Amino acid sequence: MKKYVFLFLVFIPIIFNSCTTAPSRMPVCAPAPIHSRPAAMSVMRQNVKHIVAPGETLWRISKMYDVPVSDIVNANQLKDASTVSMGQSLLIPKAAPLRSVIPLYPNSKWKFIIIHHSATEKGDSLTFNRHHLKRGFTGGVGYHFVIDNGTHGKVDGQIEVAPRWLKQQDGRHCKASSMNCRAIGICLVGNFNEESVSAEQMKSLVSLVHVLCHYYKIPLRNVMGHGQVSGANTDCPGKRFPWQEFNRRLGMRPPV
Ligand SMILES: [Zn+2]
Repeated sequence: MKKYVFLFLVFIPIIFNSCTTAPSRMPVCAPAPIHSRPAAMSVMRQNVKHIVAPGETLWRISKMYDVPVSDIVNANQLKDASTVSMGQSLLIPKAAPLRSVIPLYPNSKWKFIIIHHSATEKGDSLTFNRHHLKRGFTGGVGYHFVIDNGTHGKVDGQIEVAPRWLKQQDGRHCKASSMNCRAIGICLVGNFNEESVSAEQMKSLVSLVHVLCHYYKIPLRNVMGHGQVSGANTDCPGKRFPWQEFNRRLGMRPPV
């Protein structure tokens, strides 16, 4: 039985939880947040459409929207909880505001974090998955995490967890300096040669990097842009990526 930690990013509160899991990697205990939504706080709930992203299960979707799996199964007349597939459209009844569910797995190989941009105006994990499969990337989307910018029906700042992370596989995001086998790849949707990182994306990136650095004991000096990796010939994550703000919020000294 392995130990997992789940991080819920609700775009303001950050909630940690740990639980044990079955070998199938499906958590067997429901998260018991340390900081849950206050009982008195009224949560706006509404029916939403959700397109199943790579690696998502009904369990994960249920946690993202705080809706029981059985309610999603019934609303979509599914045979059972295992019948959802990538790209499928689901009705999520009475969904709470979306929160990102970030699992953390014990693993000593993660020594670096590499930040990318998609160099596209729009996108999400599903789009990159198709694109990367066409490029011959076994396992699909080459990043471990994708931080959305509000396009393709995603919430601005939403963190998508790619199958590569769920399976703790090497990335396909940075060949230089053998980073694929030792670096966690995070891609922000957007072209930061042309546009700015959104406030919500930055908030999610800082939170995610903080948590990953803390959990995997990655020194902040090992958090870098793709173009800063020795041997990488790219301007990724874009000339307008706000390094000064990012480093300040991470608690690092700005680059000289
Ligand atoms: Zn890149």
